[in-house]
Amino acid sequence: MTRHPRLIKPSTTQDVTRLVKEAESKIFGGGTDLVPNRTWGLDTSGTWVQLGTVPETTMISIDEEGRWLIGAAVTLGVILEHPKISTLYPLLADAIRAVATPEIRNQATIGGNLCLDTRCRFRNQPPIWRSGLKPCFKSGGDHCYAAPASSRCVAIVSSDTAPALIALGARLKVQSTSGFRWIKTLDLYSGDGDRHLTLEPGEWIEAIRLPNFPPLGVFDKWRMRGSIDFPEVNVAVSVTQAKNSRTMRIVLGAMGPEPVRLREAEKLLGEGPWDPERLMHAVHTARDAVHPYDNGQIGVVGRKGAAEHILYRALKKLRIMMEEKGENA
Ligand SMILES: Cc1cc2nc3c(=O)[nH]c(=O)nc-3n(C[C@H](O)[C@H](O)[C@H](O)COP(=O)(O)OP(=O)(O)OC[C@H]3O[C@@H](n4cnc5c(N)ncnc54)[C@H](O)[C@@H]3O)c2cc1C
Ligand code: SF4
Repeated sequence: MTRHPRLIKPSTTQDVTRLVKEAESKIFGGGTDLVPNRTWGLDTSGTWVQLGTVPETTMISIDEEGRWLIGAAVTLGVILEHPKISTLYPLLADAIRAVATPEIRNQATIGGNLCLDTRCRFRNQPPIWRSGLKPCFKSGGDHCYAAPASSRCVAIVSSDTAPALIALGARLKVQSTSGFRWIKTLDLYSGDGDRHLTLEPGEWIEAIRLPNFPPLGVFDKWRMRGSIDFPEVNVAVSVTQAKNSRTMRIVLGAMGPEPVRLREAEKLLGEGPWDPERLMHAVHTARDAVHPYDNGQIGVVGRKGAAEHILYRALKKLRIMMEEKGENA
């Protein structure tokens, strides 16, 4: 008989911290990742801690320094409909619009999107399919089908909002038994597809803080079908122009167990004029910076090619946006 998880609805952040410290417990945001995983036997947690009953996690507010805070349990649908957020942060809104379908976005939370479990075509399969394979790292075994030479799981972080929040320079409020701390969005990811978050037992995300002067940015995504599908690759690029300098953030997602910042491309495009040669050079740096494995819907060569294609498309769009604002690209 299938064991059902206990669903607990705490009312304070302290209760959440206490509950998620217990072994076998997980946060329940909107459940659009947890429930399908449960159905396929990929989630075996004993307790689900629902966030939606904790007021701090369900609000969109402004802090004392004028920065927008989005509670982790706010749904993607509510963020899109917010009168200010979509206008002030179109990069984030475009990433949210790319997640699944409107029905799922109305249930899915932003915290759940950042933390959703990693995916791999050797694991995200019905139990009968998986029963033909010996367990891999992520299922408690000692090897990886996607990367046989690897000593760790390389399952994919497929979040669409993660690259956008990294490119925006957003910070995450992490609650723990010793209080809270703010971390950079990229620091949420460990680089190991099995335990892909750096959160320790008892730690969870309460809110996301957006910068009060958002950079100009573009999000793009490549997937098998025009809607519903998870990304085979996604990209977020942003630029902040100051008088004598330009700061770039260029992030590729869904290529492996963590989103990747293309530091070399950021440096190239942060320094000189964006002539076609420099633009292509920046795009080609992706070849050495990301190393997808054969665990997505399309093969490695296709994913790398798609990454360069959407990166080029996003940078060209960003250049047009800069020109429209009278900024030098
Ligand atoms: C058909 C389909 C298509 C999809 N397409 C996409 C897509 O294109 N792009 C995409 O990004 N996602 C996609 N998803 C995945 C999922 O719907 C979204 O990522 C969604 O945002 C997850 O949010 P949730 O609140 O439902 O997460 P939940 O299922 O509630 O939780 C997901 C995980 O995050 C953890 N978690 C949740 N909130 C927190 C928190 N505050 N702190 C710490 N841990 C937390 C949970 O414990 C769980 O492990 C798709 C899902 C389906 C079913
Ligand atoms: S990447 Fe490897 S270890 Fe991870 S789920 Fe896939 S096959 Fe298993």
